[in-house]
Amino acid sequence: MRWIFVGASTIASQYMLGAVRAQGDEVVWVVSGSADHGRIWAEAHGVARATTDLADALADASCDAVYVSSTNEKHLPQAMAAIAAGKHVLCEKPLAMTVSDAVGMVRAADEAGVTFATNHHLRCSGTHQAVRNLIAGGRIGTVLSLRIFHAVHLPPHLQGWRINDAAAGGGVIPDITVHDADVTRFLLGEDPKTVVAQMGASGMGDGVEDSAMSVWTMPSGAMVMSHESFTHPYSGSGLEVHGTEGSIFAQGVMTQEPVGDVELVTAEGRVDVEVSRHSLYEHGVAAFCAAVKGEGRPAADGVDGIKSLAVAMAVRDAAAQGAAVDVDYGG
Ligand code: NDP
Repeated sequence: MRWIFVGASTIASQYMLGAVRAQGDEVVWVVSGSADHGRIWAEAHGVARATTDLADALADASCDAVYVSSTNEKHLPQAMAAIAAGKHVLCEKPLAMTVSDAVGMVRAADEAGVTFATNHHLRCSGTHQAVRNLIAGGRIGTVLSLRIFHAVHLPPHLQGWRINDAAAGGGVIPDITVHDADVTRFLLGEDPKTVVAQMGASGMGDGVEDSAMSVWTMPSGAMVMSHESFTHPYSGSGLEVHGTEGSIFAQGVMTQEPVGDVELVTAEGRVDVEVSRHSLYEHGVAAFCAAVKGEGRPAADGVDGIKSLAVAMAVRDAAAQGAAVDVDYGG
């Protein structure tokens, strides 16, 4: 396929250009709000055309797919324009600033008959897939609880809009809690029902939260504990799933790289679980490209993006109100 990249971003250059090119696809355009930044980005990454005019790129009938990785407040208008132009859209998380906007995007894509997906990379990881298979295979019995540790230290080059610009969708909840919501839904196969939460600023956040902790109740009765932060240099990341017949310990797995370890502990003892080490982003782009051809579904579709955003918004509401909040998935 031929692609238009909307947003001359870090994620696009670090991971998504390579993931798209690994399919044999071509990135033809980059669309940026800044003519200079877009031109420099295009030259640095071997992309033929740069423009500040999204309509100009969307008018290129030779391009089939659009990847949106601008700041969060731009996802809605840019994705809607791409859908209206008949392009297939792979959109970054969070899909939008509100659940109702995300619902509107997914409806518009359905009506236009184009493929629409959310770039939730973690469910593409061999480690997360192994954890899900253990749970689905009954290896830990009935799931009682899940704990996710996703406190990171935001590197200096990403300490821009994420830590000081609420209007651009900054804050750790839209940035990382959405991923944890998607991982939870992927692993447990059910949608969080009610959340309680606290959030705060612990050194980076300026007008937005840089840390959050929350507890989610699942329809099955399982409980989920989730921790996200931008300010933790040495915490590492991981998740644990505890069941009536065993526990799974996945260390170093809340990451962009195919790394981390999974251990299963049961009455028989502790074993290392074999995991695939494929690229998370290549896996996600491959699933998207296959879905465009009518072969299967994207790794995370538009509804997955709506639901992860809905959980994150419930966490923010619960923290702001100091009260339990039911997750509103937008009908
Ligand atoms: P960046 O801060 O790198 O880029 C966001 C936007 O900032 C760019 O699209 C660009 O705007 C502008 N920008 C960046 N650098 C410059 C510059 N030097 N001069 C002028 N403008 C600049 O964001 P990220 O790549 O970290 O995140 C982008 C999106 O991707 C977000 O929605 C984020 O949530 C998501 N993301 C997803 C990840 C995943 O694994 N799924 C991982 C990381 C991010 P313009 O659009 O005008 O070109």
